[in-house]
Amino acid sequence: VERNPAEYEFHQAVREFTESVMPFVMDNEEYADGHILQRMTEPDRIVIFRVCWENDEGHICCNRAWRVQFNNAIGPYKGGLRFHPGVTQSILKFLGFEQVYKNALTGLPMGGAKGGSNFDPKGKSDREVMRFCQSLMTELSRHIGEDTDIPAGDIGVGAREISYLFGQYKRLNNRFVGTLTGKGLSFGGSLIRSEATGYGVVYFTKQMLAHHDIQLDGKSAVISGSGNVALFCAEKLLDEGVKVLALSDSSGFIHDPDGIDSEKLHWLRELKFVMRGRISEYVDRYPSADFFPDQRPWVIKADLAFPCATQNELDINDAKALIDNGVIALAEGANMPTTLEAVRLFQDNEILFAPAKAANAGGVAVSGLEQSQNAIRLAWTREEVDEKLKQIMKHIHSQCLQYGNGSDGKISYVDGANIAGFVKAADAMLAYGIA
Ligand code: NDP
Repeated sequence: VERNPAEYEFHQAVREFTESVMPFVMDNEEYADGHILQRMTEPDRIVIFRVCWENDEGHICCNRAWRVQFNNAIGPYKGGLRFHPGVTQSILKFLGFEQVYKNALTGLPMGGAKGGSNFDPKGKSDREVMRFCQSLMTELSRHIGEDTDIPAGDIGVGAREISYLFGQYKRLNNRFVGTLTGKGLSFGGSLIRSEATGYGVVYFTKQMLAHHDIQLDGKSAVISGSGNVALFCAEKLLDEGVKVLALSDSSGFIHDPDGIDSEKLHWLRELKFVMRGRISEYVDRYPSADFFPDQRPWVIKADLAFPCATQNELDINDAKALIDNGVIALAEGANMPTTLEAVRLFQDNEILFAPAKAANAGGVAVSGLEQSQNAIRLAWTREEVDEKLKQIMKHIHSQCLQYGNGSDGKISYVDGANIAGFVKAADAMLAYGIA
């Protein structure tokens, strides 16, 4: 706290991690020496820079951007870029820190990083977004590379933004290499990358439920968000026979008691990704649904909950409401969406809880597969990538079981994910000596 004043989100992420890992470190001498935890909480470096761009009225605008290169012990830095007015260094440090362990869990050779800007893409024209992305990449390009650091998307950075960023990177370097992931299919992107985080959340949840002799088919679900992760999570839940009751955005949530079926979901994808509309417009089209402004969807009774919007969007009161309504399991699609107190309450009430590091690792895993395809200059089929994604999520689940099996016989997926990720990164750092 003294070294990183006022970085509340970063403190929260480190605290959750060390609470899991500390007992393991104390029991395993090889990690107790060398201040490994202290070294792991210090990023390798942070690049901070100014991004100037011209808006459609000819005014010069100025934003701040960061790249937090947290740890490259097991592979080149890898992690998304976030464009949102609320972005701070603390948020990017927490995201970069968690990315290290998530990436380790995938079994692929990827270190952890995160970046972004306080730029707000909402209400900007395509040309303004393009000029911003080109300006940001003009500086960022000197810090990244296909064997150094490979950014991807996150909140506010989707297919459009990645295309502008990659186009500028290619122009500056005169090289066509896979330095960004999430690219369009016609220029080196991977099939299933857009779907991967949401699908992966459902694959992980299915594993977790199956391990506890519970079927996914026939359950009901509430989801927060209506972006990339939320909508593909909803799509895969429908495939698995789950009834999806709610989705949200930052203006409120919609509740559709009839269920959001695949035709409604298709329309929502157009609304959010093409028309860039608001979730409230759903009730104009489907009047049997209700819109609840400025509220979160956790008051809706459902078997399963999937927070897929942003950090700290599910607090202890939300957790109480879900538990009172009989929720069986929760899987984090977003990063750190659940507050520490809420996580503890779920665990105390024996609700199955899948933490982000494990549950949402499918996105970065398929980004890793995109890098592999770029490196060998081949494109795998949809089925091949989806099968690999399923295997990776299964592997992550088995690592959680290996390290999260408590002395009381209960499984803590939080401890399992943290310790398994820690072991992989720490072993590499210790092998390198003092660095
Ligand atoms: P998108 O930008 O596609 O969607 C974000 C969604 O969350 C939107 O519906 C947005 O609503 C809502 N949202 C954003 N900020 C807030 C807020 N402060 N309060 C309430 N709602 C908010 O992002 P993604 O779907 O890509 O990312 C969602 C989460 O998943 C993030 O935590 C991200 O880090 C995580 N994640 C994403 C991965 C990916 O592959 N994309 C991989 C792993 C994790 P609105 O449109 O109104 O702003």
